[in-house]
Amino acid sequence: MKRTMLAAVCHGSGQISLEERPIPQIQQPEDAIVKVTLSTICTSDLHILHGAVPRAVPHTVLGHEFVGEIVSVGSGVKHRKTGERVAANCITFCGDCWFCRQGFINNCAHGGWELGCRIDGCQAEYVRVPYADMGLTRIPDTVTDENALFLGDILSSGYFGAELAEIRPGDTVAVIGAGPVGLCAAMCAKLFGAGKIVLLDVDETRLQLGKQQGLATQIVNPAKEDASACIWALTNGRGADAVIEAAGGDGTFQLAWQIARPNAVVALVAMYEEAQSLPLHQMYGKNLIFKTGGVDAVHCDRLMELIACGRLNTDFLITHRAPLEEILEGYRVFANKLDGCIKWAVTPPVHHI
Ligand SMILES: [Zn+2]
Ligand SMILES: [Zn+2]
Repeated sequence: MKRTMLAAVCHGSGQISLEERPIPQIQQPEDAIVKVTLSTICTSDLHILHGAVPRAVPHTVLGHEFVGEIVSVGSGVKHRKTGERVAANCITFCGDCWFCRQGFINNCAHGGWELGCRIDGCQAEYVRVPYADMGLTRIPDTVTDENALFLGDILSSGYFGAELAEIRPGDTVAVIGAGPVGLCAAMCAKLFGAGKIVLLDVDETRLQLGKQQGLATQIVNPAKEDASACIWALTNGRGADAVIEAAGGDGTFQLAWQIARPNAVVALVAMYEEAQSLPLHQMYGKNLIFKTGGVDAVHCDRLMELIACGRLNTDFLITHRAPLEEILEGYRVFANKLDGCIKWAVTPPVHHI
């Protein structure tokens, strides 16, 4: 029987290599081992590579966004079974600590962002998933791997952003960033009943994709036009009822509060690599509510239902697809947004089949 597998390993300071690693084994009773059938590269992987994630452990297999098939489970796993197709939650959580019981799984006392950060992740042939009952959602037969792939990370992040934004039916919602999370946030804003959805990005291709997919009623390119003026024009001079900042780029945090109307919620789900300034003197009287967060992927069951019934569909985000052997090229293309890349999907290595 095969004992080693191919894996993409991060060695810190931008160094990543493809290596043979031992196939992971059950370590704790709550563990499952999953054979990865489709995974992907996330912007958070790039943050680890750039050294912007202090909790990251060097020499860890990267990746936390995947679907696969369970090949073994520990004795303490009650709900997941060998042979099931599953989608992963990017957050490892016990389901039983104080934070988990409040639904704040991102702050689990025994977990958090572990996979592909502190323990070996999914950019490999197999991955060990701790607390498998919590972290794996069964994929119904009618749902493809491609449509389930983003469930526990970017789709959850987009949903989280839309939820934080307290969207009411008919609201004008501005979504900054037409990348994977921004597009998911726009999709979820629609789900929450937004009237107008204004998508803002400096990348024209991504804006057009959002428009083509029916996720945005208006698109705005702040590099080409005055974004604030565009928002005022759409809202009778009030500003956006809610803003979801999913870009984390130069100036996007300032743009987020500037285009918000007084008393709006500004939901920040971007992952910044640098400190942001909060010019309270300039926003005095605007009475804004800021909410921030990394993904709290606590709604995976609900999101899977919405995918299964066709209300959410994210497979269009996969613009590139190649086997694991080509993942280093995937990092280059994804990181530099080359060739219109939104998401690079990773299939099992060819030698494995
Ligand atoms: Zn991620
Ligand atoms: Zn917990």
